[in-house]
Amino acid sequence: MKKIKEGQAELLLPEETLTKKSYAFYNPAMEHQRNVTVACVKLLKKKKILDPLAASGVRGIRLIKEADVEYVKFNDINPNATKLIEKNLKLNKISENAYAISQKDANLLFLEKEKYDYVDIDPFGSPSRFLFNVGYALHKNSLLGVTATDTGALCGKFTNACFRRYFVYAIKTSFSKEFGIRVLVTSIIKNIAQHNMTFEPIYSHANHYFRVIGLVKYGPDKNLNNIKMISYCEKCQNVKIGVEKFCDNCKGSMHILGPLWVGKIQEREFCKDLFFNFNFDGKKELLIASQESDVPFYFDIHKMAEMLKKSPPKVENVLMRLKKMGFEATRTHLCPTGIKTNASVKDILECIK
Ligand code: SAH
Repeated sequence: MKKIKEGQAELLLPEETLTKKSYAFYNPAMEHQRNVTVACVKLLKKKKILDPLAASGVRGIRLIKEADVEYVKFNDINPNATKLIEKNLKLNKISENAYAISQKDANLLFLEKEKYDYVDIDPFGSPSRFLFNVGYALHKNSLLGVTATDTGALCGKFTNACFRRYFVYAIKTSFSKEFGIRVLVTSIIKNIAQHNMTFEPIYSHANHYFRVIGLVKYGPDKNLNNIKMISYCEKCQNVKIGVEKFCDNCKGSMHILGPLWVGKIQEREFCKDLFFNFNFDGKKELLIASQESDVPFYFDIHKMAEMLKKSPPKVENVLMRLKKMGFEATRTHLCPTGIKTNASVKDILECIK
């Protein structure tokens, strides 16, 4: 065993923690994702928490120590993990009133229908098998966080896996990070709608994983009209909401993809509050997100320049030119060479030339 510190939590961990076969799982590369979670839960004052795939217990322990939560239910199907969680809770001197531990299949735990203010779904690979049942553990004012590491399926690189798990038709696009997030949101909304509730993302981010955090609200039909088919041209990156057979820029044929959430994937004011109220490495993405346009999808300026056989322009310069032409144009925290704009592909290509 070794001892480490993450945030305010001290953790006892096995020497090897990075595979499904580890005694218990812990990934230091997910610290950023947990930092964002702690900040969201603290800002929204959520008190009763469910960590159904808790592994080492790191997330729940951090929430107790850093986010003023009152109670965390820790659960993991692996008995080694639940033993380790117990040890880590003792190590951090957490009061016995502040937690409970169980060792169940998360799906069966959800079916007990106890409601929580915040539930965190953070599995190995795809979260799809938990997304329907988690609805039983949510009330009409809960917060829900979902992580997915099956990025190849979500971003459309693996068309069949995406369709099988999420029922979205996908191919690899030039805005694959945002596409993956939108597939995940679509699937959450579709599952939660069957519990007569809806889901509204307040922050989304991507790395070697996709992560969405959002509010559960009353209203099964709300938001469904923001789930649409989209049309995408592989040749010139043109993208349209709705079904269009031919590209209005290069006249090539469009791929029809979806259905896909085309509403907001973050709330700008909330991102601003997160940025100004918390301190952790990599929080700059929150500042970018707080200034980001809500126009769905981004254009990768470097890929566009490559297509034109030009050397890549500075993103700032393209943004400036588009704004001068009267368009909305911002960066995206999902891709350093991406821009979000309501300008047409033709206009953007003009700016790059
Ligand atoms: N949330 C953790 C990491 C979780 S890794 C963190 O932030 O560090 C995924 C965990 O889910 C593993 O510990 C695994 O044992 C557990 N698990 C996998 N399938 C499960 C199931 N059906 N029910 C409950 N736990 C499960």
